[in-house]
Amino acid sequence: MSDLTGIHDVRFKIAAARRILYREGCDSGVAGHVSMRAPGEDAFWVTPFGYFDETLPSHVIKVDFNLNLLEGSWRPSPAIEFHEAIYEARPDVNSVVHTHSKWVIVLSTTHKKLGMYDAASVFFHDDHAVYKGGGAAGKDLVPALGKNRALILVNHGSINVSDSLENATIEAIVLEKSAKYQVHAMQIGGQEIPLAEVLRGREAYFKYGYRTEMWNANMRRLRKSDPELFEAAGIPADAVDMLVAQTA
Ligand SMILES: [Zn+2]
Repeated sequence: MSDLTGIHDVRFKIAAARRILYREGCDSGVAGHVSMRAPGEDAFWVTPFGYFDETLPSHVIKVDFNLNLLEGSWRPSPAIEFHEAIYEARPDVNSVVHTHSKWVIVLSTTHKKLGMYDAASVFFHDDHAVYKGGGAAGKDLVPALGKNRALILVNHGSINVSDSLENATIEAIVLEKSAKYQVHAMQIGGQEIPLAEVLRGREAYFKYGYRTEMWNANMRRLRKSDPELFEAAGIPADAVDMLVAQTA
């Protein structure tokens, strides 16, 4: 039986999450960030400046809530300040994903909230907000985010927060795809899903493990598309299949 330690390592998971985001259309230049709370500590794991699809586990650093470097050798970006602010304000949040994804930005220029135009958009029904202010400091973004799972930043991108790195990653992908469908649907006068169906769908998406299945499927894809990530982490070829079998 292969050693699965590597595939559960937070540094590998953050690097994998960034590459999955990139491959699913959430390209963010060098300034998007994926972070994960360090359990039981006033600290979190995050990446420095860099393209999502070049991330390796060795790039991931750990910083405390004053943004002092605790582990790793890369210089922390000042842009991660609001990650810290969210972890302090929201004990239910264990991962923060900030992207500059294309269709979220296009939709954000309308200042509209995400509509319920495709099946998976229901993740965000009554569960996201739009921030119209400038800048991206925690003192402004934390109250704007409130108790929601996502915040659309006008002319900028989005912040997704969730209980796990895997869920935050998949939710960021869903938000981008739903924004894309909405932009296209609005162009042809498309209509939204009726409320009763939205509520039924939302319950089902959370109940039947959609996000876990999506994460596992994307890990299988990543093994083929990004072999250097798995080689860098020393993860054997069959580890992804075994991980999927364990969590199915
Ligand atoms: Zn940004």
